[in-house]
Amino acid sequence: MKNLISEIIRYSKMLNTKKLSALRSGNISVRYKNGFLITPSGKKYSTLKSKDIVFVSLDGKFDKKKGIPSSEWKFHQDIYKNKKDAKAIVHAHSTNATAVSTHNKGIPSFHYMVAMAGGHDIKCAKYATFGTRELSKNVLRALKGRKACLIANHGQIAFEDNLPKAFELAEEVENISLQYITSLKLGKPRILSIAEMNKVLSKAKNYKKDS
Ligand code: 13P
Ligand code: ZN
Repeated sequence: MKNLISEIIRYSKMLNTKKLSALRSGNISVRYKNGFLITPSGKKYSTLKSKDIVFVSLDGKFDKKKGIPSSEWKFHQDIYKNKKDAKAIVHAHSTNATAVSTHNKGIPSFHYMVAMAGGHDIKCAKYATFGTRELSKNVLRALKGRKACLIANHGQIAFEDNLPKAFELAEEVENISLQYITSLKLGKPRILSIAEMNKVLSKAKNYKKDS
């Protein structure tokens, strides 16, 4: 548990240093026993301490005396309940993913790397107030068959089977979002066909050579 907590703190600080999420925006969790360990609500990552990380059970229970979990604990809970392969989740207000999300549109297969999120496109979850079960339902819909999505007028979420991979996927979504915005400035990009994306999806399984 100690190792997981220090990993969460290290990656939370990286949300700031890698410019993925400023100040206290975004949140990170890791599956643990019958629940998950998650960053606290409203605390700057730069001042985060081990005692600030909160355990929430899969049925949504936590000890308030030990700290208040991220306001988004409900979508973390629902992802862990519905996606058996989810072991770590990164939520970020990264600039470019957020900018695309404010148009309430997903990202089509304008680039083959879109497949890194698990499918032919990256979907955008419908807007709902932060921290609500409604938002969580919208997020689950957008994550159908995917490991990452945008959240309308808000940001992005990525999950993976460990925290370094979830963080890297969130970085990838941010990079793809920047490329998409840049591409749109030149007009309408050519979209790769479903057949081509299927080829990429099967090749992508063997692409990464390190963790
Ligand atoms: P928390 O500090 O409560 O995790 O909120 C940050 C956030 O990104 C809400 O969507
Ligand atoms: Zn947020």
